[in-house]
Amino acid sequence: MNRDKLLKRLLSDKDEVWDIIIIGGGATGLGAAVDAASRGFKTLLVEQYDISKGTSSRSTKLVHGGVRYLAQGDLSLVFEALHERGLLMQNAPHLVKNQQFIIPTYEWWEGPFYNIGMKVYDLMAGKLGLGPSEKISKEETLNAIPNLDPEGLLGGVIYYDGQFDDSRLAINLAQTAYENGAVLLNYVKAVGFTKDKEGILNGVNLVDVETGNAFHVKGKTFINAAGIFVGDIKNMDEGEKSNSVVLSRGIHIVLDKSFLQGNSAIMIPHTTDGRVLFAVPWHGKVILGTTDTEVDKPEIEPRASEEEIDFLLSNSARYLSKDPQRSDILSVFAGLRPLAISEGKAIPTKDISRKHQISISPSGLITITGGKWTIYRKMGEDLIDHAILVGGLEERESVTKNLPVHGYLKNTNHNDPLYYYGADKFQIEERILTKEKHLREPIHPHLPYIKAEIVWAVRNEMAITVEDFLARRIRALLLDAKASIEMAPVAAEIMAKELKKDNAWAQNQINEYIKLARGYLSGYDE
Ligand SMILES: Cc1cc2nc3c(=O)[nH]c(=O)nc-3n(C[C@H](O)[C@H](O)[C@H](O)COP(=O)(O)OP(=O)(O)OC[C@H]3O[C@@H](n4cnc5c(N)ncnc54)[C@H](O)[C@@H]3O)c2cc1C
Repeated sequence: MNRDKLLKRLLSDKDEVWDIIIIGGGATGLGAAVDAASRGFKTLLVEQYDISKGTSSRSTKLVHGGVRYLAQGDLSLVFEALHERGLLMQNAPHLVKNQQFIIPTYEWWEGPFYNIGMKVYDLMAGKLGLGPSEKISKEETLNAIPNLDPEGLLGGVIYYDGQFDDSRLAINLAQTAYENGAVLLNYVKAVGFTKDKEGILNGVNLVDVETGNAFHVKGKTFINAAGIFVGDIKNMDEGEKSNSVVLSRGIHIVLDKSFLQGNSAIMIPHTTDGRVLFAVPWHGKVILGTTDTEVDKPEIEPRASEEEIDFLLSNSARYLSKDPQRSDILSVFAGLRPLAISEGKAIPTKDISRKHQISISPSGLITITGGKWTIYRKMGEDLIDHAILVGGLEERESVTKNLPVHGYLKNTNHNDPLYYYGADKFQIEERILTKEKHLREPIHPHLPYIKAEIVWAVRNEMAITVEDFLARRIRALLLDAKASIEMAPVAAEIMAKELKKDNAWAQNQINEYIKLARGYLSGYDE
């Protein structure tokens, strides 16, 4: 998957008419691209930044039914998500793993109450369940999570959900779509539509953000999967500002693994603001999250506020025997949820349903809002079913339920340092490590990444900036922002060589990366 080649392919025939053009390279757009391409439609996807730079690299990394939605009575969402969780585990076993969660209980009624709730969760998952939930004693709870605060603890309830690496899945989905014939381009922005005499969309104006070159491509159907920016795309179509989503910020802090020993994750069903709090082991660190704060404007690099960071620190301190401090934070990352607007009702963002909604404008623009990473496949299938109707395309059934995702590797050993590449790990070993042995060297003593990953990301995963590599091809920015800053010069040097860029390019990349990563050290803008 090489950007230059794909761009050439796109520009080679100005009269080419694409069946489906997708705007947005997050979970939603990528799900649609995989579904469309695997049904045999001529598919183009454009992303204005990097693949998954938006909300889709900033999630809590759970492939879950959503215990919270169960409590809210949103049963159809839970049912759908549990089903999709099972399919994703089946189709991308290299990236999704079965994670044990424990709900610690402190009141007499919590044990039986959560036990019954989780049994319902198990039942709803049916054959695709990941393991039976069970009530456990105080001793068993502390054995599983040795540094849970024992004061007042009565016991716990175990249940199972999926955990994944969001931006790795995004890149593997892009590769899956590409292998099925789609053209996908990062750093290409949609800036306007063209319409025929009847006012029906027939093309889109694009800009290559790298060079500033503008071009036009023709299409039969157009999907607006722009996440928090869907309103801008609707505006390009309808010429007026439309209020399509409510934005809600969720933040996470990342801590050293010593704060959560053992392999289990903690789920706190009710924090001081009535939300769910997770503490989940991830790539050898611990992610704590999240919050739900309504914001009024979309931002590609949202920042956590001081209050949100304090909220996570104080709520987690109530459950952990070692209270995390500001100075313990390795990284702070924030994402914005593009929630579907609910019928003019003023309700808190935490209570807005995460269900996706699809709408079609008079000109034929198909817009999707809401949804979850977990259900990206079903969202993609629904979008392409709509596109077939809107564009009068040939009826073809979706095949993604049983379509392996690029990198598919059964029985992946999740303790292998390169496990998240799945089957590509063997290619990295064969094509790079056997020939260029010096690339086995670690990039930084605090993180497990090696130099070969930089080369691989440029050659095969369309990484064209230092940020693409450190933030999304590997997860250094989220795992340890300071270490990632120290990795930037090595990444820039190797990338410059691979991309045939000069020293000035490398220096500029380092400067840009440091500017960005500083925001992950403290969260809020200083
Ligand atoms: C804090 C938080 C935690 C979450 N945790 C989970 C979780 O654990 N599990 C789960 O299932 N879900 C979770 N979610 C939800 C999930 O992350 C989102 O539903 C999903 O990532 C949204 O994907 P998207 O593709 O719709 O949006 P995005 O990922 O934002 O993608 C939209 C893309 O469109 C691009 N774009 C916009 N305008 C243009 C243009 N003009 N031209 C080209 N491209 C354009 C943007 O640059 C962007 O990359 C979480 C969300 C948040 C905020």
